[in-house]
Amino acid sequence: MSSSVMVKVEKLNKSFGDLHVLKDIDITVKESDVVCLIGASGSGKSTILRCLNFLEIKDSGNIIIGGEKVEPGTHDINDIRARVGMVFQHFHLFPHMTVIENIVEAPMHVKKVPKEQAYQQAKELLKKVGLSDKENVYPGKLSGGQKQRVAIARALAMKPEVMLFDEPTSALDPELVGEVLTTMKELADEGMTMVVVTHEMGFAKEVADWVVYMHGGRIVEAGPPEEVFNNPKEQRTKEFLDSVL
Ligand code: ADP
Ligand code: MG
Repeated sequence: MSSSVMVKVEKLNKSFGDLHVLKDIDITVKESDVVCLIGASGSGKSTILRCLNFLEIKDSGNIIIGGEKVEPGTHDINDIRARVGMVFQHFHLFPHMTVIENIVEAPMHVKKVPKEQAYQQAKELLKKVGLSDKENVYPGKLSGGQKQRVAIARALAMKPEVMLFDEPTSALDPELVGEVLTTMKELADEGMTMVVVTHEMGFAKEVADWVVYMHGGRIVEAGPPEEVFNNPKEQRTKEFLDSVL
């Protein structure tokens, strides 16, 4: 296993007005690792992901991606977003574009990939997420699970170095959760570096290399899943796990 560091967050702080939502967050994500962020609603999980791809601008601390310290002042935000793919709870597909048009949009218009090549790659990605037959369908005709798999394919089309997932299955009917988790697990098995905010403790236990438990904007406890889930050190972690497991 490679141990090179893909993402490093150092002493990250972020406030919204008077509300200090991230307090000295340190996270290291090694290449090909899956890091799961868990914790109650409002603990700051989404804000970490959003700072990583500049949907929010940090107040202080360092964000290092692929060995490079990234700052909005010195880096092109589109370039960072191409390197850091993101999948949201509510899919965010373009409703007026077909599935394949959704996938080729950013490669063609941001990365200037030639049309034929972009469509070829998109078809391969659709095959990978099991949706080859939905190429020309509009998102409105898809189930939530299918929409989310398109969203994953769309993020992958930019060939990101790391993929961020923010509660990718929380908006899905229970019977559709499995297909999305399976797609994510396949991606992890292929060696994609992933940071996943999730309430799916089964997924975190099985797939994560590292679990980070957050409360009130701080990391309370972090470690391999077998330690955090089976032998939590902190009382707060125990209470949280008791409430969700
Ligand atoms: P989580 O994803 O763990 O549920 P968030 O990162 O979304 O938590 O939110 C952390 C805290 O920051 C919450 O108290 C939330 O209300 C607040 N917050 C998040 N985004 C904003 C914003 N744009 N403006 C003001 N407060 C925000
Ligand atoms: Mg959130």
